[in-house]
Amino acid sequence: MIQELKKCTGICGVEKTLDCFSFRSDTNKYNSKCKECVKQIRNIYIVNNKEKIKLRLKSYYKNNKGKISNINKQYRIEHQEEIKIKRKDYYLQNKKKME
Ligand SMILES: [Zn+2]
Repeated sequence: MIQELKKCTGICGVEKTLDCFSFRSDTNKYNSKCKECVKQIRNIYIVNNKEKIKLRLKSYYKNNKGKISNINKQYRIEHQEEIKIKRKDYYLQNKKKME
């Protein structure tokens, strides 16, 4: 069986068989870098950016935590009456069920 060869555009630059490349279903093409290079590039990126990634995750969480609780707070303030009515409805419905 003759396997088609593809040249890797990554670090190795070696011609490899197609099964060494991952197929991208979004572009319907094989990745231009072989699996090994993709793995290496990712590792290098993680090693070089460990602190940056950690900080980004931390600040992302922090930012969104604030955002989420603010949204909830805002929602409660804006929908105070609605929430009260809903709660009352819920209570009445369940009361009926229990009777
Ligand atoms: Zn490669």
